[in-house]
Amino acid sequence: MPEPLLHFIVPFSVLVMCGIGLKKSAFFASFALVPDLDVLFHIHRSFSHSAIIIFLLCAPAVIIPAVKHSGRTYDAAMVTLVVLSHPFLDMFTYFTPLFWPLYNYSIYIVAELMTNMENIAKVQWVFDIKLQPVMFNQTLSIDAPIFTSPCVAVTLVITLGLVLNNFVRKKIGF
Ligand SMILES: [Zn+2]
Repeated sequence: MPEPLLHFIVPFSVLVMCGIGLKKSAFFASFALVPDLDVLFHIHRSFSHSAIIIFLLCAPAVIIPAVKHSGRTYDAAMVTLVVLSHPFLDMFTYFTPLFWPLYNYSIYIVAELMTNMENIAKVQWVFDIKLQPVMFNQTLSIDAPIFTSPCVAVTLVITLGLVLNNFVRKKIGF
């Protein structure tokens, strides 16, 4: 799975780029970590990674404010998209039950372009959509990184870009 830091920094950077403030973006982006709370029950990629379930759970938070005209509909919709980003990213690293229970197969998308340094012209494009029946099995231990070195580097670069962009907008008026 992408590490939690990556699950956070991707929607965070998108929200900031959409013009949402840093604190609000950080708060919203933290909801991207919610699907992985299933590890507390020793299951990873459980129903919490289903877009159908996420949509059903989040729908009242979007619809009720819309009916009451409370002005929170937009925020709830943003948070829903943030949570949905989690299984979307997971789907590119391993089997994810994205459409369970409507579709009883977990989806794993492999999209890679490989080359060899001895013959850089020789490239190998791999694109595969793998399927396996959905299984929600408990495991005694789940080893997973909270973050890795490449993820820290990506996070630092993105954060620096967002801070610089914020600084330039405020000080120079771009
Ligand atoms: Zn996950």
